[in-house]
Amino acid sequence: MVVRFYCWRVPRMITTAQALSLDDNGMRLAATREAIESLGLLVRSAEDIIFTLLGGKYAGFHPHAICTAYRKDGEQLSVEEKEAIGLQANAFISRKAHSELSKKGLGQPTDAHLLTLLRASYSLARYRTVVNMLRRTMGPPSFKNEYKFEPIKDPCPACTSLSGTMFKSDEAPILPPPECECVTAFYELRPHVNFLAEWDEA
Ligand SMILES: [Zn+2]
Repeated sequence: MVVRFYCWRVPRMITTAQALSLDDNGMRLAATREAIESLGLLVRSAEDIIFTLLGGKYAGFHPHAICTAYRKDGEQLSVEEKEAIGLQANAFISRKAHSELSKKGLGQPTDAHLLTLLRASYSLARYRTVVNMLRRTMGPPSFKNEYKFEPIKDPCPACTSLSGTMFKSDEAPILPPPECECVTAFYELRPHVNFLAEWDEA
């Protein structure tokens, strides 16, 4: 399986330079690991499932729909077992999904997979933005390989203070910065194109 192949060469926490040296599958695993480690809602052995949910046949579906379908799939906890972790009788959670919850994740049994998948999805999206721009041989002449940090939703104080900051690709926080306290870290790295620069050079 692909995850096994990558295990030995993707450390649990990586720098931007390391991220940019990975291919798409490698980054999928790195983003998965970062999200599991940082949030602590799932056990480490759940990385196979988050890696799988991040790609391939699930592409194009919203993480919310993906995680709901995942929790519904397979034998469900009994009503008593659900009540023991604070869930209503009609909530969906399979035995497998339940077994992947950490002690902390047991406090958010129906959100643990979703929050982890969202955080990993945003990191992977930022990686793809930067890598796709770097691969372009004929980018706009006014593109100086700079990316603007743009929070999308509910930024923590660290992300608020970074809002609007420009980063070169090798310093751009593809994974959430260390001081970030966001849960899902929903921010973008938007390629910055200064169209007026062409006028200056003309
Ligand atoms: Zn943050």
